[in-house]
Amino acid sequence: MTHILHRQIHASLPVATAGRGVELFDADGRSYIDASGGAAVSCLGHGHPDVIAALHRQADRLAYAHTGFFTSEPAEALADRLVAGAPEGISHVYFVSGGSEAVEASLKMARQYFVEKGESGRRNIVARRQSYHGNTLGALAAGGNEMRRTQFRPLLVETHHIDPCYAYRYRREGEGEREYGQRAAQALEDKLLELGPDTVMAFMAEPVVGATAGAVPAVPGYLKRVREICDRYGVLLILDEVMCGMGRTGTLHACEQDGVAPDLMTIAKGLGGGYQPIGAVLLSRQIFDTFANGSGMFQHGHTYIGHPMACAAALAVQEVIERDDLLANVRTMGALLRTRLDERLGQHAHVGDIRGRGLFIGLEMVADRTDKTPFDPKLKVHARIKKAAMERGLAVYPAGGTVDGVEGDHVLVAPPFIVNEHDVDQIVDRLAGAIDTAT
Ligand code: PLP
Repeated sequence: MTHILHRQIHASLPVATAGRGVELFDADGRSYIDASGGAAVSCLGHGHPDVIAALHRQADRLAYAHTGFFTSEPAEALADRLVAGAPEGISHVYFVSGGSEAVEASLKMARQYFVEKGESGRRNIVARRQSYHGNTLGALAAGGNEMRRTQFRPLLVETHHIDPCYAYRYRREGEGEREYGQRAAQALEDKLLELGPDTVMAFMAEPVVGATAGAVPAVPGYLKRVREICDRYGVLLILDEVMCGMGRTGTLHACEQDGVAPDLMTIAKGLGGGYQPIGAVLLSRQIFDTFANGSGMFQHGHTYIGHPMACAAALAVQEVIERDDLLANVRTMGALLRTRLDERLGQHAHVGDIRGRGLFIGLEMVADRTDKTPFDPKLKVHARIKKAAMERGLAVYPAGGTVDGVEGDHVLVAPPFIVNEHDVDQIVDRLAGAIDTAT
């Protein structure tokens, strides 16, 4: 008997009692390879001694001081580090406690920026149908995951959704990747013109779509074209790297691989690696200066922003990633994981697509791989794969939902950056067994 309102009320969950490296352990002594870090959170694995030591040190000195009264050493040091590694033009950081809060804050920054610039007619948000930006009301409004939105629609501000960049389903026969990317980006310009470009404040997108679709990277050239369109019409580009950022794709930020710098970027999950809840918005000099020379404030705030313990944990996580050159391991092990998945599951009757970047790989499950027919949603294939994987000692992230009327089942594999060859083989072995059982 539990008094927690769990996500799935009738699910019987194992009790997690310990974590070490890539493994989690439950109260019955079973072990699981944490092959998705929850939802791409645990980038360093579990129980890292350097992060634990940093947390001890910080707890000993200062656990909390309200940011209306004080700043703190770990928050300042973390902001310095994040700006030093940020895309061009980013000059400041706003700390929050997770991904949804980061997205909410980024939307309010965009709105306040235009109000302070005297362009208060800019209020529209454009985003994409295949996307997830969080569960708070602003973030849910921006996201395009219908399953999560439907019953809350009356509470959501109107957002204007365009087609995603989803080559597996939307690239036409004979169309090159770049050509498709230009066509997909054109949907943004068309939407801006339809709405009236000077009514739009921001376009929001995940460079690699995560929770909705199991890792869908934009095709080459798509984000560059999106950036040009935003610049042309004075619309802010918000890149949501909550899931795909902080090293997950093999570079610190996913958008580096697209050669694009946003005006606002949201990060969370891998920032603190699960050791503490933390997220952030990275903002451009232009936005900062507008606030600094205008009202002198950002009209927002939560009790736990810039929490010293959270910042100390994130700082330690990021220092270890740099010191141990773990992004090189993400690239090497990511390539190996992809090869092994292709070898083992590339021709599987029910695996339609394997895609992603670095250690952020998605599999799209289909009833028929020749014509890409999805499974009947009632079968809940993604949930069955998750269950079968857990029975084999493997935790992978399942996603199911509708994209433009197409029901889809996806599995996300996003193991910690410390995985080795043996771990990769184990992950692929157990996942292949789970897929065979569940499909
Ligand atoms: N944005 C993206 C891209 C995400 O994947 C998520 C969570 O999965 C969020 C925002 C919301 O983050 P959180 O669950 O920390 O609120």
